[in-house]
Amino acid sequence: MAKLVKAGVTLRDQLNKAYSNRDKRSDGWVGDASHQARPSDHNPDKDGWVHAIDIDENFGPGWKKGTTAKEFADQLIQYAREGKDKGRLKYVVYENSIASGTYPDKFWTWREGNWGHTQHIHVSFTDKAEKDGSKFDLPIFKPEPEFETSVGDLIAEAKEPVSGMPYPGVNFIKYGERNDYIKAMQAQLIARGFEVDHGASGNYFQKTKDAVKEFYRSIGLTSNGMKMGPKAWDRLFGN
Ligand SMILES: [Zn+2]
Repeated sequence: MAKLVKAGVTLRDQLNKAYSNRDKRSDGWVGDASHQARPSDHNPDKDGWVHAIDIDENFGPGWKKGTTAKEFADQLIQYAREGKDKGRLKYVVYENSIASGTYPDKFWTWREGNWGHTQHIHVSFTDKAEKDGSKFDLPIFKPEPEFETSVGDLIAEAKEPVSGMPYPGVNFIKYGERNDYIKAMQAQLIARGFEVDHGASGNYFQKTKDAVKEFYRSIGLTSNGMKMGPKAWDRLFGN
């Protein structure tokens, strides 16, 4: 009997929970006849373990091609690069790029080529993934933060810039984080005319990174957009 490695089951469950309306049409795990004619991690091994899953790139409402799915894929390889996957991930393929832990020259960094997979993300697992089904602690799986009164919501409702918001510290205002300070920053950026694609969501991902970069440029500073420092924050809030 074919069975998906435990880490694969966990990863799929976490995605289904975080994106309950995601499209599963390009999902898959056990190989069909064409897979079985060639070596593939989708084929069951001698013990029945299947070492790969395919995840449809459509993550549901609000989804845009190349954003959420790419963020997920990026976060997954970053996670592996830092060794947090405990050696359970083997390689990831998406949008003609591959990243793997078995290619020393480019250890868990994207390599472009004719790798296909333009509608789904392929994730291959090692033997370690068979029995280890512990959760993947990725930023996109972090639960929505709850605040009694959301400063972010207040600024978003006011639709105009506010002032005097103290800097909460860089640990809160950086790529991959999700909290109300980020929501406040996004709402303020929007109120100042900067574009933040998904609105003030509280998620610091690619679109927010671009907006932060743009804001830095507007005040004559340069930044890669990965975080907002105290100086820029004070300018943003007119402190
Ligand atoms: Zn696949």
